[in-house]
Amino acid sequence: MAKAFSRKFYNSSSWVKTSRAYKNSKFGICEKCGAIGEEVHHIIPLNPDNINDPNITLNWDNLMLLCRSCHELIEEKTTATIKGIRFTEDGQIEEVHNDIENTY
Ligand SMILES: [Zn+2]
Ligand SMILES: [Zn+2]
Repeated sequence: MAKAFSRKFYNSSSWVKTSRAYKNSKFGICEKCGAIGEEVHHIIPLNPDNINDPNITLNWDNLMLLCRSCHELIEEKTTATIKGIRFTEDGQIEEVHNDIENTY
């Protein structure tokens, strides 16, 4: 699921160390639902412009430990919001006209 621009980052020892330390600090528990946390998520999504900015990529304030299903849900929402659409509560797609918003 890592995109080409971020592949090198995710393989870097600084990310491996940071994500491991972050995971330990959360006792390996998903911050959303309390299941086993498996993946460290970036709240501000990585993109080619910020991939070399440690204040984004390695900043604990920008990280979240999630289980796989919470992570998938959040990524879906984030992607949809970036494209300018989102799902309403009854499952309809609607356009959003503001800039990227945090979904929670
Ligand atoms: Zn979860
Ligand atoms: Zn993520």
